[in-house]
Amino acid sequence: MESLGRMIEQFARGDITAGRFRAYRVPQGIYEQRESGKYMLRVRLPAGIILAHQMRAVAEVSSKYGNGTLHVTTRQDIQVHRVSLEGIYPALYYLFQAGLSTKGGGGNTVRNITSCFDAGVCAREAFDVSPHVLALTEALLADPLSYELPRKYKISFSGCSQDCASATVSDVGFIAKTRDGRPGFSVWAGGGMGANSRVGNLLEEFIPIFEVWQVAEGVKRVFDKHGNRKNKNKARLRFLVDKIGHKQFRKLYEEEIKNLREEPSGFTAPPAPTIDSPQPADSLNFQSERNGNGMLIPQKQPGYFMVQIPLILGDIEAPVFQALAEIIEHYGERCLHTTQQQNLVVRWIAESDLPALKQQLGRLNLGGAKPAILRDMVACAGASTCRLGICLSRGLAQALIEAFSGSGLDLAGLGNLKINISGCPNACGRHPVSQIGLFGVARRVEQRLVPYYTLQLGGKLEEGSTRLAGSVCTIASKNVPVFLSTFLQEFQRSDQHPDFEAFLDNGGKKLAEELAKNYSTVPAFYKDKNFYFDWGAEVAFSLAGRGPGECGAGVFDLIEMDLVGAAEALKDNRLFTAVSLAARALLVTRGEQPSDDMQSLALFKKYFLQEGLLEQKYEEVIDAAIGSLAASDRETSIPLTVEEVTSLVKRVDDLHQNMDDSLRFPQVGGKEINDIRESAQLNSADLSKDFRGVVCPLNFVKVKLALDQLKSGQTLLVLLDEQGADNVPSSVEKEGHKVLSLTRGNGYWQLIIRKA
Ligand code: SF4
Repeated sequence: MESLGRMIEQFARGDITAGRFRAYRVPQGIYEQRESGKYMLRVRLPAGIILAHQMRAVAEVSSKYGNGTLHVTTRQDIQVHRVSLEGIYPALYYLFQAGLSTKGGGGNTVRNITSCFDAGVCAREAFDVSPHVLALTEALLADPLSYELPRKYKISFSGCSQDCASATVSDVGFIAKTRDGRPGFSVWAGGGMGANSRVGNLLEEFIPIFEVWQVAEGVKRVFDKHGNRKNKNKARLRFLVDKIGHKQFRKLYEEEIKNLREEPSGFTAPPAPTIDSPQPADSLNFQSERNGNGMLIPQKQPGYFMVQIPLILGDIEAPVFQALAEIIEHYGERCLHTTQQQNLVVRWIAESDLPALKQQLGRLNLGGAKPAILRDMVACAGASTCRLGICLSRGLAQALIEAFSGSGLDLAGLGNLKINISGCPNACGRHPVSQIGLFGVARRVEQRLVPYYTLQLGGKLEEGSTRLAGSVCTIASKNVPVFLSTFLQEFQRSDQHPDFEAFLDNGGKKLAEELAKNYSTVPAFYKDKNFYFDWGAEVAFSLAGRGPGECGAGVFDLIEMDLVGAAEALKDNRLFTAVSLAARALLVTRGEQPSDDMQSLALFKKYFLQEGLLEQKYEEVIDAAIGSLAASDRETSIPLTVEEVTSLVKRVDDLHQNMDDSLRFPQVGGKEINDIRESAQLNSADLSKDFRGVVCPLNFVKVKLALDQLKSGQTLLVLLDEQGADNVPSSVEKEGHKVLSLTRGNGYWQLIIRKA
């Protein structure tokens, strides 16, 4: 706490840079929000458990230092939003007094360990996994290495093969089972959700419960030693497993386990649990109750119930949370569980207490039956607060709730159908394992950006059968509610399918694809501006404000958007568009933002063909595209074959895949681009550049290119405008260069950097 307090003071005085402060605060679970100067505190709740007095503390902190609204996350943490810089220390101190911490809530650390919300009371479970979550949390958090990993490390525990806690798509996942009457776990590793989701591999068929720490620590050490620290976009454990293969990964893991067996661990496994035979789910009508529309779920312990408290998109007002603490103090286990669907659950309620509890919850406007499709709809923070967000996912979720309510759909009849929405491909809304998943993307229409969602269908969690949802189509954000209402109406009309999964497998996906054709294009801006504003937005859609300090991620996204666009154009036989998008894709790495097709093609020739990064045969492809610029129908007049254009798109994609962290490419034959030294000299800097008026993230890209021209230790002077001054220094520091000064000039900023 003391060192955090010191860092905050130093940052407030301007003694340390934003980049340095960021590197310190993020692993402590303190994130800067999209609204500059406001912070989010992510409080860890292992297994999603929070005691009554801790609920009061979180509520008080939110009311006093934050915006008075708490947010339950899909990893069962709880977040306090919009805390000012001065509020961080007192807020954390207050939480600390209540036995709560944000440490490890962000950055490249061991993140909150999750479990089924009904661990200990679920009729299907092999045994209660929550004591193992708590013991492993304590052991891992005591190790300094747990805060310096190549990237975040996510662990989950499921009580049975239903895998409600998503163990099969975690970095490491434990699934409880018994063998010959002994309790233990199967272990899955290398899974994860994000832009490149992956189902984990089975690492151990069965380990006894006292080996949980060795396994989690063994994988952690492999990750620490071999993970990619150079490229944060490819740093998660799953990329390592993909790169070296599961066999080699397993070999490295076994070496670590061998060493660990000889080390004193300091880990105390919880006592062996009592093993009840799992009750046949139907005997309690358990599964249907769990996924149904009711408020109560019977526990495996006869006469006791769980009471579900649905939240709208994980939000609850702090005073209501505080009042809820007073209520649960008198019921059940006197604590609350958060769920991965961003809801709350009170457990161990005796049947005789149900009427009184329901009444008290009712006074707070909590509880009550709600169709599962609305109750369990998940949306990540999205672009309203998340710095990486593209679309306003929460706005879309609200729009869906409204649209469904007035659509004539039989919502209760949709059973346990789930919708998960992420504001970008990073999958914090867990769309890859949802039956209906959506993630935000940006599309260019003429020269404007438009919010879109990629629809993925058919995700499923179950040990041995976990399946990632597959991309089906891309729909304009404003069309998603009407599209989904229509699609679900079609599902309900097709009563020959027993469930949604069967519907998808028997023509449902095709139907979605066909239907989407009506919703995938938008009118020109001058005809209908509505499509250019995201749900709940008051200003036209843009990527402004996205990812300060994370500029590299923005660049990669722009490239991917164009490459995806080129592939889609190829599929539709729009050859001119495919060539033009492929040509434009990588220009962002050269600091160029062409305003039309002619510029894209000409600049591509200059930077990629003349620099020897592509074989000369592609010059003919580009020239053919230039030759059709004047034609009334460029797509049909372009004298190229599908094979020629496919080859260009693939070659550009290859270059992108082989781009290094400094946005450089291998030349044909393996050499790298030569420096093109400029002679401009201002002040005593070795090189000077004027990037005023250059938008984010292009200003950062241009700075990187300028730094490329310098030797280590030389200095670069750049002129930036306000937005650039906010973003570029921290991004530059992240790359290891030193910011020597940032001073305000007359309407601009002057930044001096020493190259690392
Ligand atoms: S999915 Fe994207 S927008 Fe949503 S919280 Fe994660 S990073 Fe932010």
